[in-house]
Amino acid sequence: MTITFTTETAVRRPAAERAALMESPAFGEVFTDHMISIDWERDRGWHNARLHPYGPLVLDPSAQVFHYGQEVFEGMKAYRRRDGTVVTFRPYANAARLNRSCARMAMPPLPGETFVEALELLVGADRDWVPDRPGHSLYLRPFMIATQPTIGFYGPSSAYRFMVIASPAASYFTAGSTPLTVWLSQDYTRAAPGGTGEAKCGGNYAGTLVAQAQGKEMGCDQVVWLDSAERRWVDEMGTSNLFFVYGDRLVTPELSGTLLAGVTRDSVLTLAAELGHRAEEGRISVEQWRADAEAGALTEVFSCGTSSMITSIGFVRSADGDWTIGGGTPGPVTERLCAELAGIQDGSRPDPFGWVHKI
Ligand code: PMP
Repeated sequence: MTITFTTETAVRRPAAERAALMESPAFGEVFTDHMISIDWERDRGWHNARLHPYGPLVLDPSAQVFHYGQEVFEGMKAYRRRDGTVVTFRPYANAARLNRSCARMAMPPLPGETFVEALELLVGADRDWVPDRPGHSLYLRPFMIATQPTIGFYGPSSAYRFMVIASPAASYFTAGSTPLTVWLSQDYTRAAPGGTGEAKCGGNYAGTLVAQAQGKEMGCDQVVWLDSAERRWVDEMGTSNLFFVYGDRLVTPELSGTLLAGVTRDSVLTLAAELGHRAEEGRISVEQWRADAEAGALTEVFSCGTSSMITSIGFVRSADGDWTIGGGTPGPVTERLCAELAGIQDGSRPDPFGWVHKI
């Protein structure tokens, strides 16, 4: 079934106002002129697909999303290249992940073509909002909510709305930045086997706020999640995946069901192999992390994700003690992978994998 979009053009904010808002945007606080909405009902499927002015929603207070949290989302970016073209990165990978999240949360899948068309329409309409400064981008937030007006919890909602909103984002590059200090969360866990850890659903994030606050109190930038049974095996960090660098060998925690399958993680696995590294999925325990860092065998650790790209991790803090990785300075493998991936996105490096999608 083809889903056809209608268009209602917004009154655009004047160029000077837009430029001021884009000057140094705080992440996720300013939104572009348009948004996308598509409705789903059990007996009609997807319908009423539209590009329309950005604005508040009118929803019944009993809409299921407010009570039982049936919601999934995605996060990706559009980049403006030096030649003026605008691209997104692996949008079909995000479409596929959205649908895996939907399957876990008993929500209807959205055809991948429609997901990508929605992004193209929104970015096309709000093209002027895609920043042209190096490292800056337009962050895209596709999401889907359960809208059936009932607080009866008898089963999945019979109605949903898929939406996309967009927000200009500042650079992830902070030249000469200090590597992150991370807190190993032992009081709280993020996900358990059989739970929703590998779905990108809102509740997973609400549940991490107290641990983040604890990490901050301990003087750390981010929280690292361990497995829920033994609090021993490393899963992921905040809203990023983790890579452990042993010379020219890279290891990232395997997709056990309790961590999110990052698009950046998958890209780093592929790119690292192309650059001649051995890039593997495996299991890393806290004891191994500490012992290998202290022995110098573990040379670098970095996080990777759409929002903060590739970021070096220099220090670990836990209830059982602190340790430093690679002298606490960003390592060459981390820096090279970051430069190469950014190069594919900004067009300064070839894209042999076909990851870049022109708008
Ligand atoms: N883990 C979690 C929990 C996340 O929210 C994200 C961000 N989507 C990631 C990892 C990284 O995923 P990606 O590379 O697709 O941004």
